[in-house]
Amino acid sequence: MLEKKHLKAFKKIVGEENIYDDKAHMIAYSYDATRTRYEPDAVIFPRHEEDVSAILTYCNNHKIVITPRGAGSGFTGGALPANGGIVLALEKHMNQIIEIDLENMLAIVQPGVINMDLQKHVEELGLFYPPDPASEQYSTLGGNVSENAGGMRAAKYGITKDYVMALRAVRANGDVIRAGKRTIKDVAGYNIAGILTASEGTLAVITEITLKLLPKPAYASSYMAVFPTVEDAMNAVFKSLASGANPVAMEFIDSLSVKAIKQKLGVVLPEEAGALLIGDVDGNVAEEVAFQIETLERSFKENGCSDFQVATEAKEREAIWYARRNVSQCVTLYGSKKLNEDISVPRSKLPQALERIYKIGEKYGFSVPCFGHAGDGNIHVNVMVDGSQEKELEDGHKAIEEIFQLVVDMGGTLSGEHGIGLSKAPFMSIAFNEAELALFHAIKEAFDPNNILNPGKMAL
Ligand SMILES: Cc1cc2nc3c(=O)[nH]c(=O)nc-3n(C[C@H](O)[C@H](O)[C@H](O)COP(=O)(O)OP(=O)(O)OC[C@H]3O[C@@H](n4cnc5c(N)ncnc54)[C@H](O)[C@@H]3O)c2cc1C
Repeated sequence: MLEKKHLKAFKKIVGEENIYDDKAHMIAYSYDATRTRYEPDAVIFPRHEEDVSAILTYCNNHKIVITPRGAGSGFTGGALPANGGIVLALEKHMNQIIEIDLENMLAIVQPGVINMDLQKHVEELGLFYPPDPASEQYSTLGGNVSENAGGMRAAKYGITKDYVMALRAVRANGDVIRAGKRTIKDVAGYNIAGILTASEGTLAVITEITLKLLPKPAYASSYMAVFPTVEDAMNAVFKSLASGANPVAMEFIDSLSVKAIKQKLGVVLPEEAGALLIGDVDGNVAEEVAFQIETLERSFKENGCSDFQVATEAKEREAIWYARRNVSQCVTLYGSKKLNEDISVPRSKLPQALERIYKIGEKYGFSVPCFGHAGDGNIHVNVMVDGSQEKELEDGHKAIEEIFQLVVDMGGTLSGEHGIGLSKAPFMSIAFNEAELALFHAIKEAFDPNNILNPGKMAL
């Protein structure tokens, strides 16, 4: 519970109507996509950067902890108020597209703008904002920058960090900082925008984002390639990309997931389908698209592909994507609880990584269906357990720890897109040595010496 004097002070800053401490609001702001719950003491809806600065200054002086929040769609607990205090909810008022600079091809937005709203807005102007997390309909750009979100188009177009040109942010002590410029090139000073990207609300509150835009490609097609085995598909991923293919997306569905989509969705696939690669290619002229499709088909067939389908019409393209878009819910065929991690390895290590991940599953007696963004080396690994069995949950977490160790040993990382938050904080020492973790702490200390911003997240 917040002391009355604090509530009064916050009301003075944002007005009565922008701070709540009633039970309904505390429950509404107690969760994210992890389904874990922690109730805050109050939720505040700042109207603008000045409010954010005044709130942070006050909290810093009184050592009140703050959890910045966008849409609360994070998968690792970043927006959970695990230590109580204030949830600073940016989606309600700070959700305006401030400017589209057509001449310099960039957008300036407030952090609460929904990803898809920006995509639609710029596409009407013939421009393109590529990062498209599967949560694009509701996740905010502030949340996307803070988690460095990826999406289906990352294989060709990269991830959120590749579009962040500049940020405005408020440090824990209330100081407003500007990081980056509207310029393509900027090598003056430390790359603070780079440090704030993926900082998960632990360093500063982002109040304005300048994002690079691209011209919208005129042509696109979708493809689906059937492979007899996971190993064939994984070899095809890195070999096709190394041989010059440049698809927008190269998504993977493994044998267990193929079985699940056949059973649960009735998707009809060739008998021999042991793994699928699904994706898009695009270009500014039709020939570019045709070239990409030919390159993929040739390379896939050299690597064991038994069936290659292409679709150009919207309805057919959607049919190709149907299996990938719905695979996540189908794998519950293998267990009531999905321990889902989004590991990432160098693409050439995918065949070996998948083989060893399945072996870890076998050791513990769990099915581990895998799917995801193979074109980026980023795979969603799902250890399926019976959620009502304590022992299964315990063993499931042991299996996850072994998987993390394996991917780090292979030069990979704990998370390709979902971040660390609370869920993966205990595993940070697998991925980083003492000196590296000490540097993280020193950076945190420089931004937030009183540790009021999202304490405990990312092992900070
Ligand atoms: C169905 C589903 C599909 C998903 N698919 C993808 C996917 O394809 N790719 C992907 O990368 N992720 C995906 N996610 C995860 C999630 O949507 C992303 O991490 C997203 O970027 C979070 O945005 P948000 O607005 O919900 O942020 P929140 O969950 O509210 O917050 C996330 C983190 O950012 C911090 N934060 C938020 N706003 C600010 C700010 N203005 N300043 C400082 N810190 C801030 C929070 O403190 C927290 O640590 C998916 C989630 C769901 C539920």
